[in-house]
Amino acid sequence: MEKALTIYKTTRDKLNAFNYAMYVISWDSETEAPVGCMEERSKQIGNLVAMMLEVSHSKEYVEAVKTLYDNKNYLDSDLQVEITKVWEELEKELKIPEKELVEYEKLLAKANSIWCEAKLTNNYALFAPVLGEIIKWQKKYIHYLETDRLKGYDVLLNDYEKGFTQKEYDAFFTALKQDLVPFVKKIMTLKPIDDAFVYKTYDVDKQKQFAKYLMDVMCFDQNYGLTKESEHPFTSGYGTTDVRVTCHYYENILTSSIFSMIHELGHATYERQCDKKYDDTALSGGSTMAMHESQSRFYENIVGRSQSFWNRHYPILQKIFDKELKDITVDEFYHAVNKSENSLIRTEADELTYPLHIMVRYDMEKAIMSSEIDINELPKLWNQLYKEYLGIDVPNDTKGILQDVHWAGGSFGYFPTYALGSAYGAQLFHQMKKELDVDEVFGEEKLTKVNAWLKEKVHKYAGSKTSKEILLMVTGEEFNPQYYIEYLKEKYSKIYNLK
Ligand SMILES: [Zn+2]
Repeated sequence: MEKALTIYKTTRDKLNAFNYAMYVISWDSETEAPVGCMEERSKQIGNLVAMMLEVSHSKEYVEAVKTLYDNKNYLDSDLQVEITKVWEELEKELKIPEKELVEYEKLLAKANSIWCEAKLTNNYALFAPVLGEIIKWQKKYIHYLETDRLKGYDVLLNDYEKGFTQKEYDAFFTALKQDLVPFVKKIMTLKPIDDAFVYKTYDVDKQKQFAKYLMDVMCFDQNYGLTKESEHPFTSGYGTTDVRVTCHYYENILTSSIFSMIHELGHATYERQCDKKYDDTALSGGSTMAMHESQSRFYENIVGRSQSFWNRHYPILQKIFDKELKDITVDEFYHAVNKSENSLIRTEADELTYPLHIMVRYDMEKAIMSSEIDINELPKLWNQLYKEYLGIDVPNDTKGILQDVHWAGGSFGYFPTYALGSAYGAQLFHQMKKELDVDEVFGEEKLTKVNAWLKEKVHKYAGSKTSKEILLMVTGEEFNPQYYIEYLKEKYSKIYNLK
């Protein structure tokens, strides 16, 4: 045991050094590396990955982890959780032949550029064959990893959100289908909110000035983090002392950079507020995917799209854009940032219709994974589902099935976590309202009290608890989608003056 623990800890140090190098390389690639270095960089990444595998699949290390796992009852509670996580991951990796994994990586590299081309030229037929190959591989992956408890699509779902399978997701999405779909259809018959002013011209430097202000509001400490620009905003970090976010500024959309900044800073706050004791362990950096997304969306939608938040901060924004926003009242601004529309593109969807976009993808993935569905029929199914859930006709595949990068990247089972995250957020919010005066704390100069509450209830545990455990601990009950449905209906009934 003692020896196994020493081997585990020394190897973990080595792997941490590799992970840190990979983290910095990937941040650099996404933000400022010159295009010309791509070939050399992938060569060196390839070398690093090979060296990492040599360490992480070495007989000595695998045996040490297995020994610790078999004797985990003798370890302290955090180490028990850590070793279980590491062993489960390792066991999975070892079940898949390395050669097949390498082939798959090559397939994905090819798939990405084919998908780009297909999306650009609205040519699903170009993408279909490679998508077929990816799906075939996913089914093979499922086959390798199936257990008595986890079968088929459940293997993939559980990969992204531990403890969630079709049984849980079906219950979740059925509840949304029953309550939300008719509610959205009703909203769509009402007079649309006028948000034309959002799409005027807004100087990018001034947008950056407001983004900087938001960093202060959210208490983002730049001694431990920084921001850059990238095509698609994201957050990445290493432990609690190095957390980086990116943003994208559009001259013709005022709100895009504001809400993506709040969203990414939400992810960053989670990372920063983890207990430092988890740094350099396998439990560093937050709980599940959906829990991470719940935090970014909590800040973006529940706090950032609230009336109290804008009552406080709109005057600052108005001062920065004194000409453009001169005649726009705070109430008009609040309504504009909460406008609901049955749109085609998931990433541009509003808070209310967003989960319906996810529902389409969940249904598609279920169909893909459960039967021998014809790849060529997928766009038809996609369009049918958009009509059914959002009441909208899809004009072409670029704005339809080809819009997301996920399937080209082999990410099946990932989408549902986005909707689940919002629902976790609403359940946490229900509890927060019992303990804090939310109107007051959302409207304070800085979000110190919101941060402190989330740190105490969620963030400090880092990866040592699953989302199910956190929800139960904080709210005293299991995951319950009704809080999400109630939250959305209450908020949007008020916004659209429904009784
Ligand atoms: Zn996010």
